[in-house]
Amino acid sequence: MGGLFLSGIIGVFSKDNQKVSNYIYYGLYALQHRGQASTGISINNNGFIDYEKNLGLVGDVFTSDVINRLIGNIAIGQVRYASYSEKKSKVNAEPLVVGYKNGALSICMDGALANYKELREMLEENGHLFQTDLAVEVIASLIAKYHKDSLIDAIKKALNEVKGSFSLIIMTKDSLISVRDSHGIRPLSIGKIGDDFIFSSETCAIECIGGEFIRDCDPGEIVIVDNKGLRSEMLLSEKKALCIFELVYLARPDSYIDNRYVYSSRFNAGEILYAECPTKADIVIGAPDSGTVAAIGYSKKSKIPYTEGIIKNRYIGRTFIEPTQDIREEGVRIKLNPLTSNIKDKDLILVDDSIVRGTTIKRTVEMLRNAGAKSVHVRIASPPVKYSCFLGVDTPNEENLIANYLTIEEIRKAINADSLYFISLRGLVEAAGGNNGFCTGCFTGEYPIERSKGE
Ligand code: AMP
Repeated sequence: MGGLFLSGIIGVFSKDNQKVSNYIYYGLYALQHRGQASTGISINNNGFIDYEKNLGLVGDVFTSDVINRLIGNIAIGQVRYASYSEKKSKVNAEPLVVGYKNGALSICMDGALANYKELREMLEENGHLFQTDLAVEVIASLIAKYHKDSLIDAIKKALNEVKGSFSLIIMTKDSLISVRDSHGIRPLSIGKIGDDFIFSSETCAIECIGGEFIRDCDPGEIVIVDNKGLRSEMLLSEKKALCIFELVYLARPDSYIDNRYVYSSRFNAGEILYAECPTKADIVIGAPDSGTVAAIGYSKKSKIPYTEGIIKNRYIGRTFIEPTQDIREEGVRIKLNPLTSNIKDKDLILVDDSIVRGTTIKRTVEMLRNAGAKSVHVRIASPPVKYSCFLGVDTPNEENLIANYLTIEEIRKAINADSLYFISLRGLVEAAGGNNGFCTGCFTGEYPIERSKGE
């Protein structure tokens, strides 16, 4: 696989504020949904790069002592997702901090490379040492190979050799550079706070630290910020292909990506779900939290009241220990509990964002039935996920994707729903603002980049 997965990244450049680590810290909190496996911050203190990174959530890794120690005017940070198959290791925490012929660099990345294995093998043949499984380490080695060029030319040449999805933030001793792959598969936004510049995976982090969103980094754009201000250069430009799953599930609903609010896309998908398959029921409920916005849209269009049906314990993060089989059989509901008084004897529409392996929705339907629901009609705000993503979203192997081996009627039976409907691809694209360039590969198998052999 392409050097690991989805992340949230952020960088801040200031001319004179030596405490930009505070911005990064709060920004990472706002990006925590993009990854809970590890987190890190690296910071430029007069040419010396200090850093802290570890496994765990932002609130666990960064104590006030650590943040107080991280002094400097340029900093970057990352939260990283761990894949289904990955052994969690501190070694793979980013940002990467490296030294090459022209000085120190620190880099963090969101995305995955389709030709990671080939590039890594080629570099290893030439004697490169690797300390991590990160795609960003391959990119750093390629940049180092072109050390005779200016840094920007080296970045261009290095990225010319990679195939995949990437949003990168690179820190040098006197500049901050962001790069978005030529298809713009993963998001990357630019903001300002006072005279300081921010790059962030999502606009929610810019807003949460008090900054102001300026614009998206364009597909194929390299944006450089230094003491002279902001300028930009271009990689090769390709057909735009924003990952539509960002709008379905990955991004926060209060983010704004490539001229659309994530919230509106999800709300519209709910409305379109009803328009495509009108169904009568007493109430509409959302699977928390991923189905909530589409459920509200469904309710508005259908005029069926939106009601809370399941309560989620907000204090359980990804770190919680999975319940043992015994505990599960006793029916202990640690994460989700139904609101029986709202559900009992009702015909329900249950809206969720997606079905991947099918485990979550099956459990949810069972929970609602046990709480006395008369019928459960499942409505999904994305088409069936049939293909595994190699461009940064952690989907399991295709043999584990329920829509890959069962028909829709078979899925309905397997999850014990009274009826099941997935929004059409056309409906989803319309909900996301029209056909102006998405990667929809997980639904269609057609990706903007060729899958490497063996993937
Ligand atoms: P399941 O069908 O049991 O695999 O779970 C699907 C649910 O997990 C969806 O409703 C989403 O809320 C969430 N989800 C979708 N894609 C992913 C992903 N790549 N990683 C983790 N959770 C996901």
